[in-house]
Amino acid sequence: MLVSRRFILTGSSLLLSAAALPLTTRRGWAITTLTAGDMQIDSVSDGHLEFTPDFAFGAIPADERDELLARLDLPSQGVVESPLNLTLLRQGDRMILFDVGSGPDFMPTAGKLVEALEALGITPDDVTDVIFTHGHPDHLWGLLDDFDEPLFPGAALHMGREEFDYWTDPATVETIREDQQSFAAGAMRRLTPVADSIRTFEGGDEVLPGITAVATPGHTPGHMSFAVGTPGQGIFVIGDFVTTTIGFARPDLGTSTDHDPEQAATTRADMLHRLADEGWTILGYHLPNGGIGRVQADGEAFRFHQEG
Ligand SMILES: [Zn+2]
Repeated sequence: MLVSRRFILTGSSLLLSAAALPLTTRRGWAITTLTAGDMQIDSVSDGHLEFTPDFAFGAIPADERDELLARLDLPSQGVVESPLNLTLLRQGDRMILFDVGSGPDFMPTAGKLVEALEALGITPDDVTDVIFTHGHPDHLWGLLDDFDEPLFPGAALHMGREEFDYWTDPATVETIREDQQSFAAGAMRRLTPVADSIRTFEGGDEVLPGITAVATPGHTPGHMSFAVGTPGQGIFVIGDFVTTTIGFARPDLGTSTDHDPEQAATTRADMLHRLADEGWTILGYHLPNGGIGRVQADGEAFRFHQEG
């Protein structure tokens, strides 16, 4: 298995001389590519989210916060950036995207997927399948374009049954935490036009050849992760069951967006154990620098060892 990293620059401004190049219009993507057997896996950026430290690190007890952030080299002030790494899997005739990013309506720093795909020479029309980890805005809202049309008209859409049922239940907007009501309304708006064509699956199902769904509930009720290939020749698409390096060091500490913090903590600890034991290469949606790496045991806890 080979992991490589390259930096792609795009835009007609590249045709200009370096001296005339307006830096603000020049965009670059660090693309991490992993080759395993007949599979090519790219970590594709949808941009990033921005949070205040209080939101990002709200689950850390106050008396532990400074020590933990310093130990993990995380900022305690200013803006906390959370990367958005989509998994693109190319195998044979299939081009499979795991999640679709934020689209135009969530945060100005996100929703950059189309430009990132363009840098790889791919258009949304080329995508044959979309497999969702869960229904949060930064994973689902990119389903519709600027004109509310489906962005991936040729793709078969796959979502875990429980997750699909949760976000398409009209009661969810009433039962979800108040600060997430917009998540529920936004998911309903995006899923309703495609509801009839969504293919649902259960944990343990082989969603597509070589891609097995693993139920990882807690972050959302029906959150799913995916084992692609084998630990030696493949990748584990983790979604959001762990979203920061804090979750590796302290699996008991979740994030502000966990639906059921207790269940999320149990899932996180169990999965980190499993991934470390089995030696998977993982791709983490919100993990740093493209999100590809391994889970290493570190005493009672874990650490993220970046690759690529
Ligand atoms: Zn999420």
